[in-house]
Amino acid sequence: SRARKLIADWNLDKAFINGEWARADSREAIDVYDPATGKVIGDVPFMRTSEARRAIDAADAAFPAWSRMLAKERSGYIKRWRDLLEQYQDDLAALITLEQGKPYDQALREVVGAIAYAEWYAEEAKRAYGQTMPATQRDRRVVVQKHPVGVVAAITPWNFPLTMVVRKCAPALAAGCTIVVKPAEDTPISALAAAKLAEMAGFPAGVFNIVTGQPMPIGEALTGDPRVRMLSFTGSTEVGKRLMVQCAPTVKKLSLELGGNAPFIVMDDADIDAAVAGAMISKFRNSGQTCVCANRIFVQDGVYESFVEKFIAASHAQSIGNGFIPGTDIGPLINRQAVAKVERLIDDAKKRGAIMHYGADRPEEGHFIRSLVMTDVPLDADCFNEELFAPVAPIYRFRTEAEVIELSNRVRAGLSSYLFSRDIGRIQRIADGLESGVVGINDGTTSHEGAPFGGVKESGQGREGGHWGLEEYLEPKYLNYALG
Ligand code: ADP
Repeated sequence: SRARKLIADWNLDKAFINGEWARADSREAIDVYDPATGKVIGDVPFMRTSEARRAIDAADAAFPAWSRMLAKERSGYIKRWRDLLEQYQDDLAALITLEQGKPYDQALREVVGAIAYAEWYAEEAKRAYGQTMPATQRDRRVVVQKHPVGVVAAITPWNFPLTMVVRKCAPALAAGCTIVVKPAEDTPISALAAAKLAEMAGFPAGVFNIVTGQPMPIGEALTGDPRVRMLSFTGSTEVGKRLMVQCAPTVKKLSLELGGNAPFIVMDDADIDAAVAGAMISKFRNSGQTCVCANRIFVQDGVYESFVEKFIAASHAQSIGNGFIPGTDIGPLINRQAVAKVERLIDDAKKRGAIMHYGADRPEEGHFIRSLVMTDVPLDADCFNEELFAPVAPIYRFRTEAEVIELSNRVRAGLSSYLFSRDIGRIQRIADGLESGVVGINDGTTSHEGAPFGGVKESGQGREGGHWGLEEYLEPKYLNYALG
């Protein structure tokens, strides 16, 4: 296939340190699997501390020249990287489907998203504006400049294996930072493909490094090193908290995109067909494995029956299978542990009296689960407090506006919410009350490379996208002049 050919042609079985393709010091490798078949598709170096240190050495050595380069020059490299992402978009999409499992059309949309981020930050590199401000004394002047934070460590998850790498690297590189990336062990090959394209784009050695292998020792090397000035992490809340602790002794800047637990709210006055369409996208995109997926569907009394009936019908119409088969709606989950986790959450809801509405049968091999709508789910069910990360939709019937705001906010996460209503006052009141970083209104998707994406509460800190995403990698330096 196209993806296997790319892996072979580009030798995507080595990590990328200081502009060179590197094996693990131990020569060990770790297998990478196709989640749709459970079969090995390749392997990558099983690196630990020593290789992570070398990558930091390289990023640290490359920082002075890269950070002093003209913003316009850095923009040029990122633009070339963007163009190569576009040139190879079909191959990259095939690679994403192969190692991550999402249907090919969704994989292609992921690549288009990555291109959009690279494009935005190629442009934004030139707009790291500073400020001047009135001084408090006549013979003084005040200038605020923006400087890159320094060497950045990025740890990325498997659900968007290419976009997450680009969404961190493009703004970091634009700001003048150098970077060491540790991709998720389930999906390292897409990250290595991004590094291959960075090599082709001609980035100087050491500016962009990728270390694959064992998360703990690599994570400890990256977070413990005083030369690394910032950690940008996307992943689970649990690991994010641990990394925050590890970053405390060296007071690193943090950008954290952690788990969500999105409420999806349908009010009595909503356009029900639009709400069903929005819920389908929000719940089932990437087989339910996004941090912005609807995790709790709250439907108001008056439209409960009609919404549930249409939503179940739509969810049953989805096909489930290998993402390379055209027309597939739902691919596999990422691995066996993900399947075990959602089975636990389903069992718990069932024990508490939830009613199950299963969709199409799943294939025999691979890490598939049947799509499922659950009604009459009690509020104390575990799936209302934990992320399902699966094509499983629990629904709850509520009565009032105040009630649904309280329900939405009672969890510790606060990343995204969705709200369907046609009353502008109601929309604004509820949106004001929701404790979340992003609110989708009458829309099941919110992705936009120019908008600030990120969470409140335990969903993290910092924002990715737009000029907010560039600011993350910049520090203000305030110059106070006495004119003398
Ligand atoms: P998910 O639930 O999405 O798999 P994780 O938080 O486990 O989320 O993984 C996100 C990223 O964090 C992956 O790259 C993973 O390898 C990495 N990771 C997991 N545990 C650690 C750790 N102890 N130290 C550093 N990185 C880790």
